[in-house]
Formats: sequence, structure tokens, C-alpha cells
Amino acid sequence: MDVIIIGGGPAGLNAALVLGRARRNVVVIDEGRPRNRVTRETHGFLSRDGISPSEFRRIAKEQISAYPGVQFVEDSAVSVTGSDGQFQVTTAQGISYRSRKLLFAAGMKDLPVDINGLADVYGKSAFVCPFCDGWELRDQPLVLIVKGARGLHLAKMLAGWTDSYTICTNGPDEWTDEEREELARHNVPTYDSPIERIESSEGLVERVVLMDGSIIPCKGIFFAPKLAAGSELPQTLGCEMKESGAVVVDAFGKTNIAGVYSAGDAATEMHQAIAAAAMGSLAGAMMTGELLMETWNSR
Ligand SMILES: Cc1cc2nc3c(=O)[nH]c(=O)nc-3n(C[C@H](O)[C@H](O)[C@H](O)COP(=O)(O)OP(=O)(O)OC[C@H]3O[C@@H](n4cnc5c(N)ncnc54)[C@H](O)[C@@H]3O)c2cc1C
Repeated sequence: MDVIIIGGGPAGLNAALVLGRARRNVVVIDEGRPRNRVTRETHGFLSRDGISPSEFRRIAKEQISAYPGVQFVEDSAVSVTGSDGQFQVTTAQGISYRSRKLLFAAGMKDLPVDINGLADVYGKSAFVCPFCDGWELRDQPLVLIVKGARGLHLAKMLAGWTDSYTICTNGPDEWTDEEREELARHNVPTYDSPIERIESSEGLVERVVLMDGSIIPCKGIFFAPKLAAGSELPQTLGCEMKESGAVVVDAFGKTNIAGVYSAGDAATEMHQAIAAAAMGSLAGAMMTGELLMETWNSR
């Protein structure tokens, strides 16, 4: 095998498309649990705006199937060993694959958020990124569940989509006095009482109820979940990691370990499907180049 791709989301699939068209032999190992599986629609992907995540993958796999070098495996990669030219990946089903290059495209995963009722609305009327889902909730009364510096940034951004939103910090806000004054100056109501529950009907949020008895009616929620790397495997090979859980890569997806690439959410803090696909495309092209040059030079 030329390349093993771990993860079959937009990043891994676009890499597979590029490699397949370059006549490389590739296996895409994917356990099929993308972060956006809770959503009905993916927005902002040119020519695919509003498509469901599962339909996106179906079309992608159908198109890639035209290239016989690409093989899809529904399985979970559980270990990886070796070095440039001779990697070995073993799956949960106990099958081992060998390849010359390796691409980690395993995305990120949400850590559980302990808010009663949030799971009922996540992906339907509660979202994480205004670029992805802000348009659908424009001008609506929203609740933003955030705290700290990252939360303040999201609060400032959300003003681009609606001027009617309330911040619930669900406990201490972790802001400085200046930051609190800034929010007050912009007339953003802020509550720090813990959230008791989110009430909804058929996935559509109706109100957020706080422990102190406050009730905040709203049509949508944005929140900032804590994230972890979709796979720990890059670390086991010695890949340099960022504090965010992303793999450190250069502009073409190359990690600090020879022959090992990473793309998509796994390798950036900007989590968007089209960005992930673009990173996969670049990594696919770079791996192709490395493979071809190595073969050329060995003759
Ligand atoms: C609620 C929500 C809504 C979103 N809406 C949008 C939107 O509207 N527009 C947009 O552009 N972006 C949106 N995003 C972001 C988008 O989903 C991601 O940026 C994109 O899916 C990243 O693609 P990826 O290929 O890097 O990772 P993913 O799509 O997450 O795919 C990674 C794959 O790797 C698999 N995997 C992980 N570990 C292993 C392993 N060990 N072995 C085998 N397989 C493994 C996973 O199961 C998964 O299938 C949204 C995200 C969320 C959470």
C-alpha cells in the first residue's frame, strides 16, 4: 500500500481522491463517527451548501470509487508503528495494513457537556460555530453558553448574526472587570447562575432555565464544547501536538515525523468541512510527490 489514511471525513476523503487519481494504492480506515454527525445540514461548502453529512460522504465515496487504487475499510485504527517507507496500522478487528506513508485525518471529538437537555438540541438548534449555522439563526433571540477568553471572542463574533443574545456562563464567568464592562457597554445581558435545564420541543430550543429561577426564552444556542483529538495515534508515533489537541503540520500537512501527514480538524483550530477537504487535497498531492520522487530516485 502507498498510503494509509486514518479517518474518512472531508479531509481523508479528499486526500483519497487526489491519491486515487494519481494511481496510488490507498486504504481509508474510518470508524464513521464524525463530529458533525449530530447535524442535518453542512453549510458553507461551495456547491454542497446545506447537504447532510451522510449524503456528503455518500457522494464522495461514489466519486472516489471510480479510482480502483482506493479501498474503504469500516474499522477503527488502534495502533500504529514503523517509520517512513514502512508503517503498520492495526485495527480493532485485528487486521494489519502496511504502507509507505501515513495520513492522520481523524478529526476532533467533543468532550461531554453536562447540561441537562443540551443533547436533545445539539445539531438541531444548538450549534458550535456561527460560520456553519449562524445564517439559519440570524436575527433570532439566542443564548450563548460560554465563559473565559474563548467565550468572549465568540460573544463578539455572534453580534454579526443577531443583536439579540444573552450570555449564560453556567458558573463563574472567568472574565476580568474590563471584559465584563466591555460586554455591558455593548448591552449584552450576562447571567452566571448555573444552568438547570434546557427546554425544547422536537429538537428546537424554547428556553434556558437557570438555577436562580431565571428563564431565558430563545430560538437557538451557541456553545463552546471542550475538544479532544479524534485519535491519540499521532502522539504514539511522536508527532508534535498543540495544546488544542491539533497535530503540528506545515502548509502541506507534513508533521515533524518523516512520511507522516495530518489534515482537517485533526491539524487545525479552524474547523470547517471545506478547509478540511482542502488540507486533505494538499496532503494527498504532497504524499504523491514524495512517493513518486522516491520511486524515481531508487531506479
Ligand atoms: C455540530 C457541528 C456542525 C458543523 N457544521 C458545519 C457546517 O455547517 N459547515 C462546515 O464547514 N463545517 C461544519 N462543522 C465542522 C465540520 O464537521 C468539520 O470541520 C469537518 O467534518 C472536519 O472534517 P475531518 O475530515 O477533519 O474530520 P471528521 O469529519 O470529523 O472525520 C474524521 C473521521 O475519522 C474517524 N476516526 C477517528 N479516529 C479514528 C480511528 N482511530 N480509526 C478510524 N477512524 C477514525 C471518525 O470516526 C470520523 O469519521 C460542524 C461541526 C459540528 C460539531
